[in-house]
Amino acid sequence: MILKVDEIHSYYGKSHILQGVSVSVSEGEVVTLLGRNGAGKTTTLKSIVGVVRPHQGKVVFQGDNVVGLPAYQIASRGVCLVPEHRGIFKLLTVEENLTMAARRDSAWGLKDVYKIFPRLQERRKNGGGQLSGGEQQMLAIGRALMTHPKVMMLDEPVEGLAPVIVDEIVAQLKLIKATGMSIILVEQNLEVCTQLADRHYIIEQGRVVYAASNAEFLADDGAKDRYLGVN
Ligand code: ATP
Repeated sequence: MILKVDEIHSYYGKSHILQGVSVSVSEGEVVTLLGRNGAGKTTTLKSIVGVVRPHQGKVVFQGDNVVGLPAYQIASRGVCLVPEHRGIFKLLTVEENLTMAARRDSAWGLKDVYKIFPRLQERRKNGGGQLSGGEQQMLAIGRALMTHPKVMMLDEPVEGLAPVIVDEIVAQLKLIKATGMSIILVEQNLEVCTQLADRHYIIEQGRVVYAASNAEFLADDGAKDRYLGVN
């Protein structure tokens, strides 16, 4: 287990949002956090990276409890979050966005990122703000790779993108998975989730209410219906 979240409780002010969430990811595994809007998925990711500090519970990364460490230290240990609104620098070029995220000891260099995202290489001299939504998402993922993460967390990476771009990003995420990356994915698009994931968790009102392998989940129409209101 590279990352184990153990019974965390997180608050915004007095609102008790996460009420004992436990999830984990193994090396090279992709897990999803599913659930309706407001269930606590993003808050779980923020609690893992230390942007929100859990009041109770543990986040054990490679054997150490990282709760209470500043976010930059958790990031430099190798846990990164690609946030929902992408966070790229619009006035810098694609290549500048990538190189400024680079770490000297990173296994990921520009060439490796361009191999996965050939569009970024084509557009390397363009400003971040000139990219399409899909290209911006690719750049955000590419920037995260340059920091040499061991666990990569993606918050709704294909939201609002055209189906053809969604397919492209799914194929790219499969390539990243094939490198052995551990991934936690929050995504509303169930087809994307079931194409990529080994396991799924469903979060409801700040608690994990369901956990299953991808095969179990695919066969379980009841779970999709009960917890997600789809099917
Ligand atoms: P969504 O898909 O809508 O983002 P989610 O499952 O990711 O759903 P969270 O963003 O984790 O849900 O939000 C969980 C709860 O916390 C919601 O009730 C939300 O309104 C509340 N919340 C989120 N961010 C804040 C904040 N900064 N301050 C106060 N409450 C917040």
